Amino acid sequence: MSEDNRICIVGAAGRMGRMLLRIAAETPGATIAGGLDRPNASDLDRDLGSLAGIGGLGIRLTDDAATAFDAADVAIDFTQADATAKYVAEAAELGIAYVIGTTGLTAEHQAAIDLAAKRIAVMQAANMSLGVTLLASLVEQAARRLDESYDIEVVEMHHRMKVDAPSGTALALGHAAAAGRGKPLEELWVKSRDGITGPRQPGTIGFATLRGGDVVGDHSVIFAAMGERLELTHKASSRELFARGALRAALWLKGKPPGRYSMKDVLGL
Ligand code: NAD
Repeated sequence: MSEDNRICIVGAAGRMGRMLLRIAAETPGATIAGGLDRPNASDLDRDLGSLAGIGGLGIRLTDDAATAFDAADVAIDFTQADATAKYVAEAAELGIAYVIGTTGLTAEHQAAIDLAAKRIAVMQAANMSLGVTLLASLVEQAARRLDESYDIEVVEMHHRMKVDAPSGTALALGHAAAAGRGKPLEELWVKSRDGITGPRQPGTIGFATLRGGDVVGDHSVIFAAMGERLELTHKASSRELFARGALRAALWLKGKPPGRYSMKDVLGL
């Protein structure tokens, strides 16, 4: 068996997929072993290296999961929620570890991932950056220290092509804030506001979603009280950050027992 961690990129023709191919090719200890995308994707059969602009790799983009997974130890998936739920189950059948960056997952998708994690190691994170992982810890701490007289609002902005809202990262930060307040987020969230909403309910966690241009990902968590406001902000200026985090997770995951892992585990926080 190869010493290197053999990696399959799921959603290899996408924005994150191409970036992952490029970063994987230059990461010591990683070898690209396959690339998967949806049936009818325009780049099917193209060499994965040319897809990423790094020269030929001799491996072609396929829409067949068994072919893509065949020589892989771990898959990295940045696709779309239904696709992720389907492929993680196939990876579990084959014993391939799985890194999930896809956002917009429902409880049903999460249940499929839970099932797969009984057989394989799965790392899932709505945001693979060190900065956001740390931000979530800071938000939880601030929410624990600051009582309900501090209103919590999560504001995010992403590029115009993003399909889910609020972002997975915004929701993860909301979960961190809710954990600090000792309640499930689902009891506290106000995901959007429109019309005559009435005054703000104490203890709720509000979300505001901005979309436009090519913004990679901005997130702020605001704690607003009478007379002061604490704002914790993260701004991503390149997708490369997420790809590097996902690669780090993939290398870390090799040989780990079945179960669910987070970016906190990967970073040892
Ligand atoms: P994208 O649309 O550019 O790429 C998605 C790719 O998945 C496309 O190539 C598409 O053809 C492919 N795909 C869709 N359905 C498929 C299927 N059934 N089978 C195989 N391939 C399929 O999107 P993107 O900007 O690369 O983002 C992808 C996902 O990653 C989104 O959910 C986004 O929110 C998330 N994301 C997460 C992080 C993080 O750090 N966790 C960072 C950036 C993006």
